[in-house]
Amino acid sequence: MESKDEIKVSLMTKRNLGKGKISIPDYKDRVFVLTKEKLSYYEGNLSKRGKLKGEIPLPAVKVIEKVDDGLLPKDNCFQVCYEDSLNLYIMASDTREQEEWVSLMQEACKNNKGLLPMFHCGIWQSGQWSCCRQVDKMAPGCKQAFSQRSPADTQNGSSTAQNQLPDKLKNRRLPPPPVPDHAKRQLPAPPPAAKVVVAVYEYEPSQPGDLQLKKGEEYTITDDSRTHWWKALNREGVQGFIPSNYVQEKTEKGLIGEGWYCKDMSRQRAEALLKQEDREGCFLVRDSTASPGTLTVTVLCKTPQTTVRHYHIKQNPRDSKYFLSEKYTFPTIPELINYHQHNGGGLVTRLRLPPAALTGYAPATLGFSQDKWEISSTELTLMKPLGSGQFGVVRLGKFQGRMLVAVKTMREGSMCEDDFIQEAKTMTKLQHPNLVQLYGVCFKERPIQIVTEYMCNGNLSSYLRTKGRELAEDRSPLIDMCHQVCCGMEYLERNKFIHRDLAARNCLVGEHNIVKVSDFGLSRYVLDDEYTSSTGSKFPIKWASPEVLEFSRFSSKSDIWAFGILMWEVFTLGKTPYPNLNTTDVVRQVTHGKHLDRPQRCPHAVYRIMKQTWEKDPMRRPSFKELQVQIEDIQEKDYCE
Ligand code: ADP
Repeated sequence: MESKDEIKVSLMTKRNLGKGKISIPDYKDRVFVLTKEKLSYYEGNLSKRGKLKGEIPLPAVKVIEKVDDGLLPKDNCFQVCYEDSLNLYIMASDTREQEEWVSLMQEACKNNKGLLPMFHCGIWQSGQWSCCRQVDKMAPGCKQAFSQRSPADTQNGSSTAQNQLPDKLKNRRLPPPPVPDHAKRQLPAPPPAAKVVVAVYEYEPSQPGDLQLKKGEEYTITDDSRTHWWKALNREGVQGFIPSNYVQEKTEKGLIGEGWYCKDMSRQRAEALLKQEDREGCFLVRDSTASPGTLTVTVLCKTPQTTVRHYHIKQNPRDSKYFLSEKYTFPTIPELINYHQHNGGGLVTRLRLPPAALTGYAPATLGFSQDKWEISSTELTLMKPLGSGQFGVVRLGKFQGRMLVAVKTMREGSMCEDDFIQEAKTMTKLQHPNLVQLYGVCFKERPIQIVTEYMCNGNLSSYLRTKGRELAEDRSPLIDMCHQVCCGMEYLERNKFIHRDLAARNCLVGEHNIVKVSDFGLSRYVLDDEYTSSTGSKFPIKWASPEVLEFSRFSSKSDIWAFGILMWEVFTLGKTPYPNLNTTDVVRQVTHGKHLDRPQRCPHAVYRIMKQTWEKDPMRRPSFKELQVQIEDIQEKDYCE
C-alpha cells in the first residue's frame, strides 16, 4: 500500500552491497519505497511489506544512473551510490520502470551537494571497474553524470529509451528529465566533449595498434575509458592507442608545447630545479598548488643572493588581460612571458631561459603498450649489472633493442613466484611520476625476470652518501626529495596499496634528482624467513613501527612511520638510523616511544613533520595526503630557522 508521502513503490531485485573484503554477488527481491527524504527497502512483497532491510537518506546520494553492462544477470539495472563508495545495484522489471526510477530519483536528488560529476557505467567486480578497467574502487568515473549533461543529451537519452519501449507504451509520458542548472539560467549548452590533446613527448609505437606521437601535434581522443592508454586519431585519420601521460589536453590558454610551461610541477620541485640550474633569470610557469586555476611564474635571481621568487599571473576583470605587474597587460600568456623575457617590468630580474631539464626525458609509459605486461625474453637484451639485492642481480637492459630498462633476474627459490605473477598484472597498472614503473614480467621461462623503468642514479641511500654534500649546500633539494617520495606514497595510499619496505635503499634516483619509490609490495613474496619475520636478521627493524614489531601489523600507517625514518636518512645524507644501537636496543627504544634526534641540517619545521610520523598510536599518525600538504607549506624562510 502506498501512503501519501511515498513517491514510488516497486518490487525490484537488489544486488548485495559487497561491503566485506570478499563478497560473492547475491541477488534478493525487495520492496523499494521512495519518499522525499529517503529510499528504503523491505523484505516481503507489494501487498505485505516485511522487515525494513535498509535505507539511504537522499541527501547522501552521489550518483543515480543506469548501468550499461552485460555482466549483470538481468537487464534494466540502475545504480545508486552513496556515502564513500557504496554502490547499490537495482534491477527493475522493465525499461520503463528503470527509466521512471532513475528520473524520479535524479529529480529528488538534483540539489544534493555531493553529486559526482562522473560515474562508472559498469560495475565493480573482481577488483576492477568493468567499464574502464580501473583497479582503484575510488577512481573517478569514466562517464559524465546527469548533473553535468546538457538537456539535449538527456533528451536524446530518453528518446532512445522511448524507442526501446514496447509499442503500447511508446507514447506514455515519462517523468521529465531533470533540468541541469545551466539550462535554467538560459546559458548555452556546452559543446559535445570531443577532447583534443597535444603530444608533449614523442612516442614510437612498440606494438601493432599503437599510434605514433609527434611532439606538438594535435590528436583527437576517441576513447578515454581506460586510464592509461587512450584511443586517438591523428590528422591523417589514423587511429591507435597512445600512452595518456604523453599528451595534454589543449587548454584555452594555449600553453601546452611552450618550453617553459610544466603543468603539474610542485613548488618544491620548481625551486630545486631552478637552483640546480643556477642561472640568473632561469624560469618556468606552472599551475599554482596554493590557488588552483592560477598560473605561477617561478624565477631564480642570483643577486644579492640566490633566491627563487614566485609570481601569480593575474587577470584584469575588466578586459580579461593577463599581467604580473598591473602596468603591463597582455591578451595572452605567451605574449606576457615574451615581454618579461625582454624587460624586467617590475620583476626581480628579467626572465631568461627555462631549465634544460624541462626539455628532458619522456616519462615511463604504463606497460609497453595497451594490455601488454607479459614480456618475452627474446625482447630483452641484457647489459651491465646495476646492483644486486634480496632477489638477485639487477641489470641494465634494452627492450626491443631501443628502450633502456632495468631487468631484475629473480634467484630461483627466492620468491613465491605464482603469487607474484598474479599480482604483477595489477602492479603494472599502478602509475605515478614518483613510482618506478613496473613494465612487465618475463615468466614463461625460468628464472623470472621483472622489467622496470631504468633510473640512472641508482638507489637513494647510496646517492645521498656520494652526492649528498653537493645537494646539502642548499636544503631545498632535500625537501624536494622527501616531497617526491611523499607524492608517490600518497598515490599508493590512495590506491590502498601498502609498500611494507619503504626506505631510502628502496627508492631510486633518475636524471635531475627525480626520486621514485621502488619495490612496493614485493616483500610479501620473499621466501626468506630472515627477511620476513620481525625477529629475522634481514628484517628492516630500523624502519618498522611499533605495531609491526609487535604484531606484524602492516598498513599505510606503518608506511608513514617508515617515511619519517626515510626523511631522517635524507637529512643525514644517508646515515643508518640509530647509528650506535643494536637491534634489541632499537626495539626497546621504539616501543618506549623514544625517537631519532633531529639531524643537524634538518630545519625544525621538517623535524616537526618527522615526529608526527612516529606517533605510537597508528591512528594518530597523519596520512600521506596530509604530509604532502604540510611539506608543500614549508617555505624558504623555514629553512633558515
Ligand atoms: P632487491 O629488491 O632484490 O633487494 P634492488 O631492487 O634493491 O634489489 O636492486 C639492487 C640494486 O640495483 C639497487 O640498490 C640499485 O642500485 C640497483 N637497481 C635496482 N633497480 C634499478 C633500476 N630500476 N634502475 C637502476 N638501478 C637499479
